[in-house]
Amino acid sequence: MEESYGLQDYSDGSPVFSIDPVCGTKVEESRAAGKTGYAGQMYYFCSRDCQIKFEEDPGLYTGESKGPATPFGPGAAG
Ligand SMILES: [Zn+2]
Repeated sequence: MEESYGLQDYSDGSPVFSIDPVCGTKVEESRAAGKTGYAGQMYYFCSRDCQIKFEEDPGLYTGESKGPATPFGPGAAG
């Protein structure tokens, strides 16, 4: 009896899921209400509302918007 383990079989039989970045819902990509490409990444949404929110401010949900914390302080010596 042979049993293989530790092998991921990426066949096209199983659905692929993504996390809706707006509300955190698990969305099946082929059934997503909408999708948007941003910064080389594709994002899937559970509803049009979430897609619209994302498109209004993608950085807010991808963590790329400039927050208050910066790696370099404004008073760096030059
Ligand atoms: Zn959503």
